[in-house]
Amino acid sequence: MPHYICTGGCKGVSDTLGVCKTKDCEHEGHQLEECDCKDGEHYGAFEEEPDEEE
Ligand SMILES: [Zn+2]
Ligand SMILES: [Zn+2]
Repeated sequence: MPHYICTGGCKGVSDTLGVCKTKDCEHEGHQLEECDCKDGEHYGAFEEEPDEEE
């Protein structure tokens, strides 16, 4: 079942199309991306990238 994800870092998932509302997320106010994965992995969209700040 399709769902919508934010790839800006907040790892938000929604059943309906909308925008990210997470403060401090890189994609706050940006439209979520459609995803139709069935394993909850979102095709690796939420894979962490090395971040020197943390
Ligand atoms: Zn977000
Ligand atoms: Zn997904």
